[in-house]
Formats: sequence, structure tokens, C-alpha cells
Amino acid sequence: LAKLRGRDVAMIFQDPTSALNPTLTIGRQLTEGVMRHENLTRKEADARAIEMLDRVGIANPAARLTQYPHGFSGGQRQRIMIASALMGRPKLLIADEPTTALDVTIQAQILTLLGQLQADLGLSLLLITHDLGVVAAIANDVAVMYAGRIVERAPAADLFATPRHPYTKGLLAAIPVPGVTARGSALPAIPGRVPGLIGTMAGCAFRDRCTIAGPECAVDPVPRVSAGGAQFIECAKASEVAA
Ligand code: SF4
Repeated sequence: LAKLRGRDVAMIFQDPTSALNPTLTIGRQLTEGVMRHENLTRKEADARAIEMLDRVGIANPAARLTQYPHGFSGGQRQRIMIASALMGRPKLLIADEPTTALDVTIQAQILTLLGQLQADLGLSLLLITHDLGVVAAIANDVAVMYAGRIVERAPAADLFATPRHPYTKGLLAAIPVPGVTARGSALPAIPGRVPGLIGTMAGCAFRDRCTIAGPECAVDPVPRVSAGGAQFIECAKASEVAA
């Protein structure tokens, strides 16, 4: 796993403030992995770090290698985290809520940057997020997860045009639409709570919250059904849902 991490697969996390070590310089944190994985010399590793910092939009990168995380803003720290993830030239970049801790303007900049890096470097980008606006802006394919299972998967355009699974529909219905949602009106919410995942659970984990649940929903396994094209859902009442 140690060989795989950083080289083939890299990850950026939600909160860049706590993901960087405050006691180490940016240069040390960026170069440690590649010096170990690729046996780069200090000079080679520094050159790679400068290249990656430049790529993610950190100005004057060579001078900043000797600085500590507190010298950078939240948005800059997330850029440094992305640079750090790119140091090993990974094929897959996993981004776990990468913009949650940032304000909206910086969020947009980071998402644009991730999109550019994906195109420029030929990366696969796996974005984990609760923000369907972010999904609509950046994703090609979407997997909607509930209680640890993929309950719907589809190309992004299909998912937003024709959501099928009751959970996906509930999520989308809860988003206010400018010009459509009446000011002051209550947004539809999915009733109930996500079930605890300790122990075993037969059938569909969403059934306590689903408005169309029936006895067939308590049976294992919940069927995985095509919803047309590359779209599928995991639902015991797929035909009713589609209708
Ligand atoms: S399997 Fe049943 S409870 Fe689960 S989403 Fe489908 S209809 Fe609702």
C-alpha cells in the first residue's frame, strides 16, 4: 500500500488547515514522499515541488518552499495540498470534500484548478462531496451513495435530468432553485435519519425514510436494475420509481 499511495493514487482532504503539519516547512512536506518513493535527490525533489506549486498557482514557488503553513491562506493551503498530491504524478486523485472548508469564491477557484489539472495531466479524479452543485459543475459520472452503498449511478447529465432512486430524488428536491422556489417556502426534506451501520441490515437501508417502501424492500439482496443507458439504481420497486 505504501508503494501505491502517492505514486498511483493520491488524496486531498477536506480541511487543508489540519492536513498540513504546522511544524514542517512546505518544501519538506512536499518532497518527503517522492524522495522516498522515487529516490530523488533533494535538488530534484525541490525542482518538482517548485513545478507543482507553480502549476497550482502559488506565486514565487521557490521562495515559498522554506515557509510554514501558517504563512498561507486557506485557499493557498488547499492548493499546496493539491500540489503535494501531484508530486508522485498519480493516475488517480481522490478529493474528499476538497472545498468544504473554503469560502465560495475560493471553492470555485479550486474546482476550476482541479478540472484543469485533470485535463492537463490526464488524471482520473474521484470527487467525494455532499454538494450537488459541485457535482453538476465538475462530474462526468456520478455515484450516489447511501449507508455505504451505491444506490444510483449515472452520467451526470442523466442523473440531473432524470433522477430515479427515491434518495436521489429527495436530495435534488431539497435544493432551492432561484426563480422557482417561492421565497419563505419550506424546502422538502427527507424525513428520518441515516441508519446506524453497526450490525447487519436486511434489505434497503433507505426504507425507513422512503415514501414508497413496501414489504419487498426488506428482502436481500436489493436488486440492481438498469434505468436506461449507463444509469442504474438499486431498488426493489424500480418499475414504480421509473414510472
Ligand atoms: S428499495 Fe424500497 S425502500 Fe429502498 S428506495 Fe426502493 S422503494 Fe424505497
